[in-house]
Amino acid sequence: AAKGAGKDRVVRFDPGLRTAAARQQQLATGLRRALAGGEFTLHYQPVVRLADGRVTAVEALLRWPAGGVPPLTFIPVAEATGLIVPLGWWVLRQACADAREWFERDGVAVTVNVSGRQLREHDFVERVLAVLDETGLPAAALVLELTESVLVDDAERTARLGRLRERGVRIAVDDFGTGYSSLAYLVHLPVDILKIDRTFTASGVDSTLMKVILQLAEGLSLQTVAEGVETDAQAAALKALGCHYGQGYLYSRPVPAGALSF
Ligand code: C2E
Ligand code: MG
Ligand code: MG
Ligand code: MG
Repeated sequence: AAKGAGKDRVVRFDPGLRTAAARQQQLATGLRRALAGGEFTLHYQPVVRLADGRVTAVEALLRWPAGGVPPLTFIPVAEATGLIVPLGWWVLRQACADAREWFERDGVAVTVNVSGRQLREHDFVERVLAVLDETGLPAAALVLELTESVLVDDAERTARLGRLRERGVRIAVDDFGTGYSSLAYLVHLPVDILKIDRTFTASGVDSTLMKVILQLAEGLSLQTVAEGVETDAQAAALKALGCHYGQGYLYSRPVPAGALSF
């Protein structure tokens, strides 16, 4: 009876809460089943070199076709439940296996999103190297994307990334500009690439912010990728400002591996 009363109280104070929690729970169960049942797939979105329009890399993006929910809905639940760890290893292995042929034939690299929870695995570096070994993908063909907050929050783990960089794996800061106001940390991070969040591309590439970010990257000898490039005007302006790469619907939406052409 006490349990029932507790539930009633939650409902009385916030009628939406129980529903949201229940939906979350249901989604978590669905995700676990989907991973066991092989329901996840990957789409790939090209990263284009602005100087010559060549595709130099593709970003692996997780899809759950039968789930009926987008990554922005199910990935936070996977993070919260810890399922992102096995899921992330599945993504890395699949992406590296897919990319081997692209790298050998066209020199195209693959970039894979890594969650903070995955980075915190004690054997993260060893496991990444093992996946490269098993799939036969050269380290130079792999880029790992981590968000600013993950890189900054856990300096000790982040330092381990240096061991991967020594082997030739590159590290990118994803969604750069959205996480932290201080830029000083960038000097000390073991990173190679800044992926500038699409809010900066969308709010006008000639904005002061975009210019400042690109100058900062230049000063730190970091490669730059502008996310969310949707128009020719944006691409032209970015190129003029010295941004190295663009990614966005202008070039291609994320597509299944079979639909890629370089
Ligand atoms: P992200 O890593 O920043 O990936 C870029 C997102 O922007 C993708 O959304 C992509 O479809 C979208 N996008 C690309 N070009 C454009 C554009 O021109 N305009 C607009 N409006 N959007 C564009 P998606 O695939 O829905 O993924 C959302 C986020 O989910 C990703 O953001 C990433 O943080 C996360 N995610 C996706 N796959 C994985 C994964 O395998 N592991 C982890 N940990 N996170 C993932
Ligand atoms: Mg990304
Ligand atoms: Mg991003
Ligand atoms: Mg983004």
